[in-house]
Amino acid sequence: MNESALDAANSFADTFGYPADGVWSAPGRVNLIGEHTDYNLGFVLPFAIDRRTTVALAKRADQTCRVASSFFDEIIECDRADLSPTSVSGWAAYPLGVAWVLGQEAGDLSRLPGFDIYIRSSVPVGAGLSSSAALESAVAVALNDTWNLNFDRRALARAGRRAENEVVGAPTGIMDQSASLLGEADSAVFLDCRSLESRTVPLNLARDGLSVLIIDTGIAHANANGGYADRRASCELGATMLQVESLRDVMVDDLVRARTVLDDVTFRRVRHIVTENQRVLDTVRALERGSARDIGGLLDASHRSMRDDFEISVPELDLAVDAAVKSGAIGARMTGGGFGGAAIALINRGDLSIVQDALADAFAERHLAQPQVFVVEAAQGARRER
Ligand code: ADP
Ligand code: MG
Repeated sequence: MNESALDAANSFADTFGYPADGVWSAPGRVNLIGEHTDYNLGFVLPFAIDRRTTVALAKRADQTCRVASSFFDEIIECDRADLSPTSVSGWAAYPLGVAWVLGQEAGDLSRLPGFDIYIRSSVPVGAGLSSSAALESAVAVALNDTWNLNFDRRALARAGRRAENEVVGAPTGIMDQSASLLGEADSAVFLDCRSLESRTVPLNLARDGLSVLIIDTGIAHANANGGYADRRASCELGATMLQVESLRDVMVDDLVRARTVLDDVTFRRVRHIVTENQRVLDTVRALERGSARDIGGLLDASHRSMRDDFEISVPELDLAVDAAVKSGAIGARMTGGGFGGAAIALINRGDLSIVQDALADAFAERHLAQPQVFVVEAAQGARRER
């Protein structure tokens, strides 16, 4: 058993006074390319990372549900029959929200027993690595096994998303849960957000001597939610004016005509989505036919598009990307919703300390707080640990 599984099992026993039935885990994720394309029914290419949320769980004889987490000094308790989107709040809305959704989807609620859960995690919260999906997915696989529900991975991803949308109240797409549940070692998950079809794409980072670096700026902008809503509205306006169901239906060649129909701002928002979808497809083709070495230009172009056309970058992210590329990164881009958060850089394994030093110098020179810089591996999705 790995160390985190053992830790979770031990914390469970310490907290609840009896041993867990089993331990399950699910990873956080990072999006390699395909930003703001999800709600435009386009393409995304995230991968699961080697930072995981681990849950130890035991089924109870009664209907009580208790959840505890190493991140919080409290045990949240409720009766399974009382579980509803409004009966839970705070961090417990993630694990108990998943329990509520799975109970709903299983139909026959009365046969499902209560449970105790202890949660531990190495996924940093709020760094854009989706600690929320890691938690939802770990609880989803744990309850799927414990309650013998036999839902497949795609159904569990939808359940996690429903919990986040309907119980937590965050209007997120299905990307994060898909990466966390469908990820495979050294591979990315290519997801079509319209059909919800997906397949894994080999990254072969180890074979090619490459690493992916996360550069977390620690910047969280107050206008992130407003900015997100505003960009969504621009995309909807663009689709309406171009008379398509979604921007997924606009091709790069259509942009010439789009420029004559749309105002400048809407046109640039649309151009980001349309070219970003194409970049995801080009990235998948490059990875399947060649190597991640071939995607540097696509990562760089994605960043420029977010900076200049979609206007969701911030100076700290631009600085991180510039410093990484200037010190030898193969490609770099901001990742996530924007207005702060993290950038990723694809680098040669041997260049790690050169790029790290360059980043430290660049931020120090501008008197900015140092970013958190760390390497992530593409990891296997949710699994039972013991
Ligand atoms: P992220 O980008 O990390 O997904 P979110 O705001 O979507 O950020 O989700 C973070 C929230 O998820 C936390 O504030 C907390 O409520 C919950 N969460 C994540 N990990 C844990 C954990 N290990 N234990 C308890 N709650 C967690
Ligand atoms: Mg999240």
